[in-house]
Parts: sequence; C-alpha cells; structure tokens
Amino acid sequence: MKFKNNLLICSFLIFSFCLNFAHAQGYKIKTIVIDAGHGGFRSGAAGSFSLEKNIALQVALKLGEKLNEELPSIKIIQTRKTDVDVDWYRRAEIANEAKADIFISIHCNSMPDKKILNGYKTIKGKKVAQYKYVKNTSTSGTETFVGAYRRINEMDAGLRENEDIIKDKNYKKTQTKDPTDPEELIMLSLYKSLYRTKSLSLAQLVQKNYTELNKRVNRGVKEQGLLILQRAAMPSILTEIGFISNPTEEKYMNSESGQNEIVDAIVKAIKEYKKQTEN
Ligand SMILES: [Zn+2]
Repeated sequence: MKFKNNLLICSFLIFSFCLNFAHAQGYKIKTIVIDAGHGGFRSGAAGSFSLEKNIALQVALKLGEKLNEELPSIKIIQTRKTDVDVDWYRRAEIANEAKADIFISIHCNSMPDKKILNGYKTIKGKKVAQYKYVKNTSTSGTETFVGAYRRINEMDAGLRENEDIIKDKNYKKTQTKDPTDPEELIMLSLYKSLYRTKSLSLAQLVQKNYTELNKRVNRGVKEQGLLILQRAAMPSILTEIGFISNPTEEKYMNSESGQNEIVDAIVKAIKEYKKQTEN
C-alpha cells in the first residue's frame, strides 16, 4: 500500500511537472465557464425585493457579453442562461468537460436575522427572557472564495453556499469516489494544489478591483470547503458580489450601473490574470 502510494505520488508529480512545462510553452486561456448561482426553485438568498438567483443570472450574462466583446478569442460558456436549476455537480462537470481554464461562480451574500432580547415575561412565577428576530441590514461588502481541500465528509455543512447541495437528495448518490480512500485523498490534494495558487491570484485581483475601481467594502479572499469549487479541475473562484440583506447593496446589485461596475471589475481582473499566466 505504501509503495503503491509512493509510486502514485511520483507519477503524479512527473505528470504535473510536464503539465506546468507545457503551460510555460505558450499557454493561452481558451475557455472560461461562468456559473450563475442557484436558479429555478433554488432561489438562494432573498432581499426585500429581489432574489439572489436573478441577480446572479443578470450579472453572469452581462459578464459573458463583456468578455465576448473585450476578449473575443476566449470561448465563454454559461452553466445556465435562464431561470433553471442546474445540479451543483453538473456545473463543475460542464467546466471539466469543456477543459475550461477558469471557472467563475457568481453569488450574493446575506446575513441571517439577528436574535435580540425583547423583554421578560413572567410564566408560572418565573421570569423568562423573550427574544425577537430582526433583519441584519448593516453588513456590507464583497468577498471571493477559493476552494480549500477537505475530505468530502468533512465539508462545511454550515456554509451558506453548501446548504443547497447538502440538502440535495442526489448529493450522496453523486459521490462516485470513496472519500475515505487514502489514494483518492492524495490524488485530490495534489491535484488541488496545482490550481490553488492560480485561484488565489484571480480571487485577489477580483477583490482588488471591487475595492479600487468600485470603492466597495473588501471582506477579502477566503479559502473554504465549497463543494462546487472542489469539483472543478481548474483555477476556480466563487465571488459574492454584495449583501442582498443590505438595502443599499441590494439596490446597487439590481441596478444597471451597479451590475456594469461589478462586471468591469471582474473583466479587468481576468485581463490582469491573463497577463500573469500567459506567455
Ligand atoms: Zn449563493
């Protein structure tokens, strides 16, 4: 078992070296997959007048159009173009099948309601605290995630963007590989480390442009066990373009000018990333 593992690691390192070498020789970004989060009956987070799935789709389609105009040599693929639900694993599969160079998933953030003390009631002679829930409308800003390698059964079930997936009845069925197999773990972690640096650079460029160009609050780049990013075998990011639970940001993300600003920030980041990685 140990020998087999070592052999596996060696062959993988040789493979990745060759891959990197091939990349150094005239690597060009050919395909970008854009993924509008949620869709159909999975509406994502809800604001006071809009839904995450619709904002994500509008921004994804605008991003695709702008990339077609400014970088016409790159093929753009959307995981959805209408208000439909696409299985989470299918989204990553679309990118893998297209041998995409970049995978970008578009989402909106949301804060859960705040539980606050709302006085006391005397019940059977005892003083009992009463609570009420109020909307948390003050948190704002943008953040971009890159995948962190975790065993599938150690995934962050509490992460908002994983919730839909964990609830999915097909979730267990679609785990084709045994997540506890040590060989599988070695392969996956090596595989992932190949894309980690590139994903981080792209995420940082996106955040830099949101902050410098769009003057948005920067909540930074985070590495988290997001299932969708883990399945995509290429540099991948999931960008949260603002808080739908914040009235100002909800308005901004629904406006033509806000969406254009967001798209411009991402397009500029892709151009900068292209310069960094191509030669
Ligand atoms: Zn989302």
